[in-house]
Amino acid sequence: MGQYDPGSQTREQFEVRFGLPREVKFCKICNITNQRPNSVNEYQHSVDSKKRTIAINEDGVCAACVNKEKQHGEVDWKAREQELWTLLEKYRRHDGRYDCIAPGSGGKDSIYASWLLKYKYKMNPLTVTWSPHLYTDVGWRNFQGWIHKGGFDNFLFTPNGKVHRLLTRLATLNLLHPFQPFILGQKTYVTKMCAQFDIPLAFYGEMPGEYGTSDGIANADERKFASATGSGFSMDMYGGQDKMDLFLGGEQVKNIVEKHGINVADLNAYFPLNPAIAREKQIDIYYLGYFEKWDPQECYYFSVDKTGFEANPVRTEGTYSKYNSIDDKIDGYHYYTSWIKFGMGRAMQDSSQEVRNKKITTEEGRALIKKFDGEKPARYHQEFLEYVGLTDKEFMALCDTFRSPHLWARVNGEWKLRHTPGKDGVDD
Ligand SMILES: [Zn+2]
Repeated sequence: MGQYDPGSQTREQFEVRFGLPREVKFCKICNITNQRPNSVNEYQHSVDSKKRTIAINEDGVCAACVNKEKQHGEVDWKAREQELWTLLEKYRRHDGRYDCIAPGSGGKDSIYASWLLKYKYKMNPLTVTWSPHLYTDVGWRNFQGWIHKGGFDNFLFTPNGKVHRLLTRLATLNLLHPFQPFILGQKTYVTKMCAQFDIPLAFYGEMPGEYGTSDGIANADERKFASATGSGFSMDMYGGQDKMDLFLGGEQVKNIVEKHGINVADLNAYFPLNPAIAREKQIDIYYLGYFEKWDPQECYYFSVDKTGFEANPVRTEGTYSKYNSIDDKIDGYHYYTSWIKFGMGRAMQDSSQEVRNKKITTEEGRALIKKFDGEKPARYHQEFLEYVGLTDKEFMALCDTFRSPHLWARVNGEWKLRHTPGKDGVDD
């Protein structure tokens, strides 16, 4: 069994933070932890927010695996493809205007999605990019390859660097979530570009169901992104809410304005699209992954072939893979902080997906998690610390304040996870 404190506390007495499930379980197929949060409404994400997490059913199987099994089995992909042709006919334009938007930063999935739309389905997509915090060299080359070799029109939006850095610092201090400003901006940017250019159709690649999430709210149409405001929650939930009351970086906008002397106009890029505009423009966002079978490894081979996509020459820190999320110098910290908060690191994320796609076995996944999960990123560490304005000591002390006692134990002066995936979802 795992490393329980030898003291007098029992499992029932450990404090559980962030509203996570007290009992830690792992999917018996893909090894994902039941502590993995579903995406939240980031605009209400404060220090006190409670998480909703991935469901593991009574057979010990997670929602993502249940979903994937359906795709391997009962989905009629030919019929889905036909469904997509029919949908596209509704939006196709013959006058030279763009007829859909394909967002991305030049990663393998965005390359695959935009390629399908343009060259297989003969649409006229506009690609749009919300810049990473700090492009890596390989990420920048892949982005350039996408546009130049792939042959796409693109708008690259780079948010105000000072404001973005402040929000990243706040999100790190308040939520240990340095990636949040990117997530916020990237989602809302797509819908704003739809509105701006009168393009009522956009496509994300992978479905959130691939990861067992549901965008945090029930959506009647599983093919579609839940909201056209780009906020990840329904328009009615946002409707009527004052901008000043929303949260960015875990801090209320009115505080950001008052305490940090930021002009509200400088935060505009992060706010969701006005719901009235979204309604008027009838913007629809679909997941291409609903219509086309999505396999990250196949997307990788595809993008190497079509646009000269480069993987990292060395293994990505915290995992064994070389081609997932490699365009932002902050990427590694997204996964590292997730390991601190939820006990789910980058190797668990990568391997669980590969188990579901039948590239590796459950046991291989476990071995990879054991070997790589929680490795602290080093390559861009100095740049990351400078970006968020912390010393290494401050950052590590901050991390410690986000370790939920039901997940972590202090053993011989070192932090250890109390639970790691073992056989049938029991502790190793
Ligand atoms: Zn699973």
